[in-house]
Amino acid sequence: MSKIVYFLDIDDTLIKTTSITQDHKNALKNALDKLRIEKAEEIVSDFSANYSRLYASHQGKFLSVEEKKSLDEFVKRLKELEKFIIEKYGEIKIWSREAALYISAEKYGIKLSNSDLSNLSNTLWNKITQNASFYPDTLPFLDYLKTNKIPFYLISASDCRLSMDEKTGYFEYDPLYSRDLKLKRFKILYEVGICEKQVFVGDPYDKPNPWVFIEALNQAKKDVKGKFTSIMIGDSVKNDLLPAKVAGMGKIIWLNRNKDIVNKISEEYIDTITSLQCAVR
Ligand SMILES: [Mg+2]
Repeated sequence: MSKIVYFLDIDDTLIKTTSITQDHKNALKNALDKLRIEKAEEIVSDFSANYSRLYASHQGKFLSVEEKKSLDEFVKRLKELEKFIIEKYGEIKIWSREAALYISAEKYGIKLSNSDLSNLSNTLWNKITQNASFYPDTLPFLDYLKTNKIPFYLISASDCRLSMDEKTGYFEYDPLYSRDLKLKRFKILYEVGICEKQVFVGDPYDKPNPWVFIEALNQAKKDVKGKFTSIMIGDSVKNDLLPAKVAGMGKIIWLNRNKDIVNKISEEYIDTITSLQCAVR
């Protein structure tokens, strides 16, 4: 039997991830109040609305004409603010909390400083990290991999941590800084014996760019002696499965936890499972 190496997405595959919760909003509001920034309530509400629309659109959910219009306006401003990043890396950092917060404050005539943005974004990410938890089938699956000495690597999207250059008024991106912050907040993974070297993050080129999948696959080729079959498991067809295929992975599995028939996929090479338990042989 040929060797198997697994490549696993993290958010919505191993760890429960939500859009914006009330808990996140409260933390953000408190942080804005502490910084004595006016219109805290309005800023949080606008940020949350923009973010929910972005997340819904990412998940392929229906958006009304009004929602679509608001989302387009948001992305247009994001593109302006990230002008230099887009020029350099060829892609927009769409999930940047710093940029989204900046845009929401700007709507109420408030210019957030780089230090405010960093403070607020840290608050939000700390809250997200605190609330992170594994799905019930995650630890049994990781145990199965460990017990059977099956190598595995985790592939995660970038947190898109940006900073505002107050002189130019544009956002800047340091891939190492962004990656470092993301790796630091994966304590939940290290606690169950996963090491940092197994985790691949989409900095500088984020999913759905196949770059991070190629990086992980190359590492596996170095670590695992001889031929192996690579298996990718992820919840997002666009962000996990299509790029894994482009990167040259052998088997592609869609983890459809919500049994979401709306987004049913037609690609022949993709197998579907509804729980990680199904991947245990
Ligand atoms: Mg995911």
